[in-house]
Amino acid sequence: MALEQVLKAADFATEVHNDWCPGCGDFGILRTIQMALAEMKLDPYRVAMVSGIGCSAKTIHYIKTYGIHTLHGRVLPVAQGIKLANPNLEVIAVGGDGDGMGIGGAHFVNAGRRNLDMLYVLYDNGVYGLTKGQASPTLKLGVQTKSLAHPNINEAVNPIWLALAAGATWVARGYSYDVKHLKDLIVQGVRHQGYAFLDVLQPCPTYNDINTKEWYGGEDRADQNGGRPLPRVYKLEAEGFDPVVRDPTDIEDKAKQALEKALEWGDRIPIGVFYNNEHVPDMGERIRQRIPTYYARTPAEQRIAGPNGEPLTDVAKLFARLSVPPST
Ligand code: SF4
Repeated sequence: MALEQVLKAADFATEVHNDWCPGCGDFGILRTIQMALAEMKLDPYRVAMVSGIGCSAKTIHYIKTYGIHTLHGRVLPVAQGIKLANPNLEVIAVGGDGDGMGIGGAHFVNAGRRNLDMLYVLYDNGVYGLTKGQASPTLKLGVQTKSLAHPNINEAVNPIWLALAAGATWVARGYSYDVKHLKDLIVQGVRHQGYAFLDVLQPCPTYNDINTKEWYGGEDRADQNGGRPLPRVYKLEAEGFDPVVRDPTDIEDKAKQALEKALEWGDRIPIGVFYNNEHVPDMGERIRQRIPTYYARTPAEQRIAGPNGEPLTDVAKLFARLSVPPST
């Protein structure tokens, strides 16, 4: 596909059969990623998508880019490896809240510390949809969805708090049924210089009968609003919330206001950008300071084997360079 060609969302759609349940919030996320890639005129060969295990993981099969459907909880290490090896690719990692906040929790924390220039999209529905709706780490304490014999006995993880504490430099939340707003967030997340984390409220109509599209849309509160739904989801930017760190001295205040907003849940649920800080060098830049040729000669472009598969790396030389003199 030529760069000058006008790209449409449909150019990023594959013909693979879609297995998601009717009405699943995943459809909105899939569509918005395709729309965002088209808007940014990113040719498919310049994009690598990585997924873990779960309903969300199928996303990469439905988008025409490079893609790896990896192991449960291992989305971020694989995505980070791709970005480190080929920093010229746009890397987008996608996964469910069980995958990312449960088994992948430690990887989530360490991704924040690295601040690699990539986007991670979390499909947040409070259940393990692929395995019949068990409580996932983002389901609130005391909530009983239809697959649970008893109300959830665990406190929920707050992905926005965790991302901020880990060091993510762009932190946002979208809603899968607000496609235009979500597309704008994906564009911003991809363009952010550093690690961008996007939590997406993604109703699972099959197993989460509490946090449904109707619940987010406030249809149960119509009588409080003259017969019209009173949506729970609202946009931060519509209320003048400013997430941008303009000076490093702002960091504490901007982080505090983001943490405060991230606690809102129930009657009012904010979506939009909570925190945006481009004053932290991303990991690629830190590597470049140590290895000046990093971007000019990326690891992915280097030959590692000869014509017969023989390794070209002289391990003995490498060990000699890394050796520490014995203490006397
Ligand atoms: Fe979507 Fe839930 Fe069905 Fe999975 S189980 S495809 S998350 S509706």
